[in-house]
Amino acid sequence: MIEENLRKVRAHIPQQVTLVAVSKTKPNSSIMAAYQEGQRSFGENKVQDLAAKAEVLPKDIQWHMIGHLQSNKVKFIAPFVHLIHGVDSFKLLKEIDKRAKQHDRIIDCLLQVHIAKESSKFGLGLEELKHLLSSSLDLKHVAVKGFMGMATYTSNTSIIEKEFAYLKQIFSQFQKTNQELQILSMGMSGDYSLAIEHGSTMVRVGSAIFGSRL
Ligand SMILES: *Cc1c(COP(=O)(O)O)cnc(C)c1O
Repeated sequence: MIEENLRKVRAHIPQQVTLVAVSKTKPNSSIMAAYQEGQRSFGENKVQDLAAKAEVLPKDIQWHMIGHLQSNKVKFIAPFVHLIHGVDSFKLLKEIDKRAKQHDRIIDCLLQVHIAKESSKFGLGLEELKHLLSSSLDLKHVAVKGFMGMATYTSNTSIIEKEFAYLKQIFSQFQKTNQELQILSMGMSGDYSLAIEHGSTMVRVGSAIFGSRL
């Protein structure tokens, strides 16, 4: 089932768009089923789960931290994490830099931009984004590679489209002055095709691959 779902999702995703298989709450056996199909990028939203899975699963998996990350937990994933998607404060960025330095590595990050209507969703406003991006240039062990956004949870596709288009526009704008920005992480199971139409380079797909989370 997972194998078949994965093939279906892949059929909708162009070569140049990275598929992150969101395996949160799913057992290692599910991850291995996708792995056997050639999937190597996986996303988790809890530090404990990410660390536990990385410990026992194949070492060539690229682990993405997609959830909200607390500064005091960065140390648990700093040795191995491939990309941190949801960075939304300088405090967090500084902590990532500090822990990356301890492991003699540079950790790639995405800044989370607030695009949804819901005020409950995390993410930076435009001014904060500008600020954080310029502050990040002083940190030698983090590399801001792009932006991440989550659209409003709604069945109204025109709202989702507007939000994706808005994020793409901001991304393109910042790209003009920052060559490092290459990744635009937007799109989940329900809206990844729409996200790709609007310039996404990385989609985070969970339930469409692994089934619903109950
Ligand atoms: C859970 C999650 C996803 C995947 O959601 P699906 O709807 O199952 O594809 C993507 N991004 C983030 C940040 C998530 O927490």
